[in-house]
Amino acid sequence: MSASNANEVIIGGQRVVGLGLDVQSRCAHWRGPTDVVAIRMACCGVYYACIDCHAALADHPAEPWPATAGAEVAVLCGACGHAMRIADYLSSGSRCPACAHPFNPGCQRHWPQYFTLPLASLDDGASPAAP
Ligand SMILES: [Zn+2]
Ligand SMILES: [Zn+2]
Ligand SMILES: [Zn+2]
Repeated sequence: MSASNANEVIIGGQRVVGLGLDVQSRCAHWRGPTDVVAIRMACCGVYYACIDCHAALADHPAEPWPATAGAEVAVLCGACGHAMRIADYLSSGSRCPACAHPFNPGCQRHWPQYFTLPLASLDDGASPAAP
């Protein structure tokens, strides 16, 4: 039993789940200096360090966010605890918009496992008509 690795941490007031987490949400799968992003999964609404952690710890299959979910706050910077919208994360240029901590640019290869891409634009006026 290790004192420094846990399967749950609280970052910025949010519960983050994963295997062997450190205090910035690095997990057993992704432990590089820039692997500090946690993603709230569409299926269960829980922040996970990565989709492999979800596969290991959740009791159900992962589901990607729909293309219309760009305004959902579902990405957490493990470095500062800033929670951001999916659209803001995807356009962040691989750094946190709040603290400028770099994010792993290689994560982009895995985005389709978390998000249905391309996202629908947030300001194309396509929102449902008001009643
Ligand atoms: Zn889930
Ligand atoms: Zn993981
Ligand atoms: Zn940050």
